[in-house]
Amino acid sequence: MNLRIQPFAIALGLSLGAVPSSEAADFGGRFRELTLRASPGELYSLLYEVPKGGDLHNHSDGANRSEWIYAVCTDPALCGGETFYTRARFTSPADAVDPTQLFRTIRRKAYEGLPASDKPEYVELSALSADERRRWADSLRLSGAGDGRTEFFAHLWPRIDGITTCLPAATELLVESMKAFGAEHVGYLETQFSVEGMLGNDGAPVPTEQAVAFVRARLAQPDAVATGVTVRFQENVVRSEPDAESEVARAYAFVAAHRDLWVGLNLVGIEDEGHGYPSRFLSTFRSLRARYPTLALSIHAGEMDGPDHHVRDTLLLGATRIGHGVNLIQDPDTLLLLQQGGRVLVEVNLISNRLLGYAPDLSRHPFPEYLRTGVPVCLNTDDRGMWDSNMTDEYYTAVTLFHLSWAEIVELGRASLAHSFAQPEVRAALLARYSGQLSAFEARFGAGTTEDALRALATVRPVTYTYARRTWGLEFR
Ligand SMILES: [Zn+2]
Repeated sequence: MNLRIQPFAIALGLSLGAVPSSEAADFGGRFRELTLRASPGELYSLLYEVPKGGDLHNHSDGANRSEWIYAVCTDPALCGGETFYTRARFTSPADAVDPTQLFRTIRRKAYEGLPASDKPEYVELSALSADERRRWADSLRLSGAGDGRTEFFAHLWPRIDGITTCLPAATELLVESMKAFGAEHVGYLETQFSVEGMLGNDGAPVPTEQAVAFVRARLAQPDAVATGVTVRFQENVVRSEPDAESEVARAYAFVAAHRDLWVGLNLVGIEDEGHGYPSRFLSTFRSLRARYPTLALSIHAGEMDGPDHHVRDTLLLGATRIGHGVNLIQDPDTLLLLQQGGRVLVEVNLISNRLLGYAPDLSRHPFPEYLRTGVPVCLNTDDRGMWDSNMTDEYYTAVTLFHLSWAEIVELGRASLAHSFAQPEVRAALLARYSGQLSAFEARFGAGTTEDALRALATVRPVTYTYARRTWGLEFR
């Protein structure tokens, strides 16, 4: 590692030596001592190694890093023999170009259908120059500057629209995600992943059952199994669409028919846009519940700037998990409900909330208030590919800002698994495995002296991305 700048405690203004050595007898004391004495790089390494339970809030398309997308989409063996083109060169002045068009990437069939005048603006993905390739990669993630929300919702997604319909690429990228999560000790991934709407290279729809079988077969391959990451999926529906109610019914039927892999349903899309408010879907969910056995709902709510009752209204839809819940803190009645109930978990996404401007100053994020007043919470990565971050970044953010204790870290992981929508026997196995991983972690870093544990961290090689480099100057080689 290249960081041994200063002990983390000094950066925090905490005093060293505040922990009596007798406290190190239990791991909570050792963990506190380690966080006080570790350099930022050592602390990151420690958190990289921490068993982290599950990521419950993850959009499979937004989770893909640009570099993964490039590698998969330029290798015919990985993307089903598809060829991708991206709009890299414009014949009109740059100030007349719609920003969503820059680096919009499309499949061969769409490319062939372009007017002859447009084709010269597109470049085969594998033929991008080094500079174009770098700019293409950067165009698929937020830099942290400017209006993140507009950039994210209006610009980034249209650029990858043409990629997300390619089933082999989407499935291959899912396995890339599993590999990365496995490396940082995330044991369960419940990602929003749909196979409906997939198109073959000839532009024809891929039959749904054929697509399901393809995914199932890929997940059974040795490299996917070796990640140690258990995967389950949620279907999602863009809440603001005019036909969102019928889409909810379609998605509900799909999940009900594929319950071994698909375990829940979500509503997604920008919440403060006005058309996708939760109560719009109340009668839809009620009529679906009259027709199908229980189906778990995790729904985005409270990803808002100002106060409203969206979280309350979303609970009324039947959701047992709330995605984000940032403005729950501004709705005292509903907050009280969640503090007392323990049944509903809030999926917290710190880096997402920062970059999209819902919590620009993360030190004022309501996460610690939820965590420490009895609201079940866990940490998640949301669209990590677009933030170019990982789960360790979420933990590092939480530990450095809110001084999480070891017990709190353990509780985050446990809550993520206990509130997962995986089948009960799968959930029980995940919790048992998590306990075993915790014991091994505590034995590894609890043995010997604190100096021994710090020395052991030198052998850890965390994989970090541009978010960690840009935000904390953390990079490991
Ligand atoms: Zn989300």
